[in-house]
Amino acid sequence: MKARQCMSCGTQDGMQHFDGRNLSVNYKQMSRMVHDLAGWECTFCGEIIFDDDTDSAERYVDAGDKLLEDCFQVMGSEIKRIRRKLHLTQKDAVKLLSGGGHNAFSRYERGELAPPQPLFMLMRLLDRHPHLLAEVHAISEGADLKQLLATRHPEQETVLTQ
Ligand SMILES: [Zn+2]
Repeated sequence: MKARQCMSCGTQDGMQHFDGRNLSVNYKQMSRMVHDLAGWECTFCGEIIFDDDTDSAERYVDAGDKLLEDCFQVMGSEIKRIRRKLHLTQKDAVKLLSGGGHNAFSRYERGELAPPQPLFMLMRLLDRHPHLLAEVHAISEGADLKQLLATRHPEQETVLTQ
């Protein structure tokens, strides 16, 4: 059996050769299988080096890139669909839900940028419970925060600006 030293962890004869192996690339909860790969795997640390006389490395990297691209597209079109379902403009969505720049939000929708996890989670919750948008409006007006702030220094007037 072919074996060689692992360049990652240094284990002598740690790496075993494999071919015809199927491995998955993963992003968040998504994964995709890449077939018929050849290379070396360390039985000790798990390091994998693909054979450079095959197209294994190229196909594995391509599959990862494509998965990422597809995930961004799917998340982006979900964000857009939910925003429209809630009758929000991009500007509204930034003000109420994401904060930060308007530019970033439109890049999430175009699938150029991964949306921050809290934003994506919030939008999916609103998709399932759209009536909660009324709560979002109320919370963003900040009346409850104004009250809490007012109790801290009652002698000063507290004003919350949008
Ligand atoms: Zn190793």
